[in-house]
Amino acid sequence: MKIAVAKGDGIGPEIMDAVINVFTAAKVPLEYQFVDMGKWVFDKGYSNGMTPDAKNTIEDLGILFKGPMETPKGKGVKSVNVTARKTWNTYANDRHFQTLSGVDTVFSKAGIHIDLTIVRENIEDTYGGIEHMLTQDVALCRRFITRPGSEQVIRYAFEMAKKKGAKRITCGHKANIMKLTDGLFLEVFKEVAKDYPELKADDVIVDDLCMKLVSRPDLFDVIVLTNLQGDIVSDLCAGLVGGLGFAPSSNIGDHISIFEAVHGTAPDIAGKNIANPTSLLLSGLSMLRHLGLMEQAIIIENALLFTLESGVHTGDFGDKSIPSVNTTVFTQAIIDNLGKQPSKNPRPMLPNFMVKPSNTKLDNNPMLQSNLNEEHKIVGVDFFVESNQQPQFVADKCSAHCSDTLKLVTISNRGTQVWPTGSVFTNLINQYRCRFETVNEKALSQQDIVALYGTMSKDFTICSLETLNMWGGKKAYSLAQGQ
Ligand code: NAD
Repeated sequence: MKIAVAKGDGIGPEIMDAVINVFTAAKVPLEYQFVDMGKWVFDKGYSNGMTPDAKNTIEDLGILFKGPMETPKGKGVKSVNVTARKTWNTYANDRHFQTLSGVDTVFSKAGIHIDLTIVRENIEDTYGGIEHMLTQDVALCRRFITRPGSEQVIRYAFEMAKKKGAKRITCGHKANIMKLTDGLFLEVFKEVAKDYPELKADDVIVDDLCMKLVSRPDLFDVIVLTNLQGDIVSDLCAGLVGGLGFAPSSNIGDHISIFEAVHGTAPDIAGKNIANPTSLLLSGLSMLRHLGLMEQAIIIENALLFTLESGVHTGDFGDKSIPSVNTTVFTQAIIDNLGKQPSKNPRPMLPNFMVKPSNTKLDNNPMLQSNLNEEHKIVGVDFFVESNQQPQFVADKCSAHCSDTLKLVTISNRGTQVWPTGSVFTNLINQYRCRFETVNEKALSQQDIVALYGTMSKDFTICSLETLNMWGGKKAYSLAQGQ
């Protein structure tokens, strides 16, 4: 099987060579096609950080194993790491955190063994980066949580948990506050859970989850979260097991998957042969497992655990009373230990399984769509308007645009209702949301909304609007705080 390999920048080539040497010694049946991505590709003028050849090779082979890459600063270019994840729709970021011998943490010292996996949604949420200034004082970032996008990542998490032999899978969320966005993610989690009765599926509010993770991380197994919350929680978990240097990362898609170390290019130590290849090696092991090469992955992981247990370490971690070794010596120690078992938590042998390579040749972009087909109607509109007047003044202006069938129901400022009731202690910002709803949920047309926009724009600078939708007789919008 052939995979694409991008060595990356800084310490990338050193640690990638180290990992490939271990793979070769362990007779991993992979061929490597090296591709050009990263800093020098940006410098040559490719604004996405990869050559067209690299893009084609990766799309043909479906697997990219990559070292860390530098994004040139101040040139207005986007990170090649993020571009790769988004372009190829690697919707699940899977990071495995485990207690490693020789990597001391408060938990390892207390005898608490950590073995947990965070699956983070990788495409949606605020990471779409859809941001606008609505007034000079107000910035808005749109947060997309979609039903099919949530289902992709949640189903991946359940499948992975099943393969891993996990007992528990937990959904982290903030659905108590973000009832529609996080509420949708949680709803999909509960739906998918019905297909996996053998797994204990539960949910925890994300702040409570953080508290529980830092006190009893051993109680968790697989945790699935939306993008931003997952980003934060996964770095928290990296801290639990000794830092980013020991945290592998897989970005899984239906057609293309990317395996990489989570640390950066470490320019301060590049070229010195002292970098620690553990994170990239662990990511490589996730890749072998993904490809069904379980035997090789387990033999190498046991050799790594044996090596760490015996106290061999690079300069960035380990027992300071034992002199550190360089990258080459560390790598050779792992190679010499192939076939050995650590005394603590050796990985049990599992057979290889065949992975059918996915057909990455697509003619069109896949359209993800749930098959819900409930009756839709528009029953109102939220206008976001700029004003530095008091709420009653704004309400009086809005009232002029009401009719027998269209009523002004609430005005809020930063989400807190300030009209018809509110408190003078609520600080105001120069932007209001004015909500119009139809009487008895009578349907409005898009043209009705455009007409209202036309008349409202005579009285206000309109920053933005949202239609108020109902599907299947249910309101599909949230209430203002205090409404
Ligand atoms: P960094 O992770 O490169 O370095 C932070 C510190 O950790 C440094 O002291 C470094 O020496 C040390 N370190 C990191 N990896 C190590 C390893 N394997 N062995 C030993 N020590 C290690 O973070 P940074 O300095 O903030 O970023 C440097 C560059 O890396 C930036 O250009 C950034 O954009 C890029 N970056 C890339 C990725 C990626 O490719 N996925 C991720 C993060 C940062």
